[in-house]
Amino acid sequence: MSIIKLHDKYFKKFITENQIENAISLLVKQVSEDLKDETPIFIGILNGSFMFVADFVRKYNYNCEVSFVKLSSYNGTNSTGKIKQLVGVNEDLEGRTVVILEDIIDTGNTLQEIYEIFKDKKLKQLKIATLFFKPDVFKKELPIDYIGISIPDKFIVGYGLDYDNLGRNLADIYQLTTEPKMKNIVLFGPPGAGKGTQADLLKVKYNLEHISTGEVFRYNIKNETELGKLAKSFMDKGDLVPDNVTIDMLKAEVDKTPDANGFIFDGFPRTESQASALDEFLEEKGETISGMVALEVPEDLLVERLLERGKTSGRADDQDESKIRNRFNEYNTKTAILKDYYQTQNKYFGVNGVGAISEITERLSEVFDKL
Ligand code: AMP
Repeated sequence: MSIIKLHDKYFKKFITENQIENAISLLVKQVSEDLKDETPIFIGILNGSFMFVADFVRKYNYNCEVSFVKLSSYNGTNSTGKIKQLVGVNEDLEGRTVVILEDIIDTGNTLQEIYEIFKDKKLKQLKIATLFFKPDVFKKELPIDYIGISIPDKFIVGYGLDYDNLGRNLADIYQLTTEPKMKNIVLFGPPGAGKGTQADLLKVKYNLEHISTGEVFRYNIKNETELGKLAKSFMDKGDLVPDNVTIDMLKAEVDKTPDANGFIFDGFPRTESQASALDEFLEEKGETISGMVALEVPEDLLVERLLERGKTSGRADDQDESKIRNRFNEYNTKTAILKDYYQTQNKYFGVNGVGAISEITERLSEVFDKL
């Protein structure tokens, strides 16, 4: 999705829930092939492995026992090398096959400790399975029987793994990244809500670049570029221009000012696929959307405003009520859902868009100041 903050640090999505699930399925397949004829004891190393163990054993279709031990070596983002005591192996393990389920193996210090601890337990065999493995930092000559996903030496959180106790509940794995520097705001609202007017004022006040995809299209139409010719037929009817065209254009606009303080996106994103493309694009730059600020205006008032604007704007799509209705239809069926998209990320801020221009700028500024 996008960049998240835990305590003082920023993390970006690195390995998805799906990729994790596939890796676990493969691990289960290998372990099943080796051990299906006995009843292994799967031992999870707490706290980090609780999700992995739960998902692993749920997929394991043969007899098995499940147990947990606690043994931690992390304090913050650096491996301290100090290992705490083992708590929780109470069963008689003599003659049994034990499979340790680790969330991550990096330096191998914990792994070494595990080998030490189980050395005198008279096991039939000890196997090690780890979901994540950092080959670049692993320094030990110890066997690891099953490896899920090998990753570079970067701090990760999510799927049971924490950064100072936060982040264990994330379904995906996130990787440490730099602090975003830009203020990137999606100025949102139906056609005629006043996005363009407000963006012109706010870009000056906050020193941001204003990108209006509608304006860029109109500029291209006026100058009869290839892009303009392509967009015209859609725009004249009040339909959305296809996503691939719009997304490429938007990226090119952003890349024109790489040193920007941030952007006000006006009229973009308008579909869910535009929103996720924007998230991905910004994430590659170590940036993210700071928030969606939405101008809320009743539809009847909007039609009035647009017809009024049509008298002077010269815009074909402002002059005909059926085209205006079609733009609302496009908005309601394809764009309005973006409220949920940003709300689930706690990034949605609604602002009353009825009133004097300066009043509304004030209301918007209150939100901009917080972002
Ligand atoms: P606007 O100036 O934002 O009202 O946009 C005018 C027209 O440009 C829209 O009705 C669409 O035809 C097209 N357009 C602007 N932005 C987008 C977008 N993000 N995706 C698809 N079409 C767009």
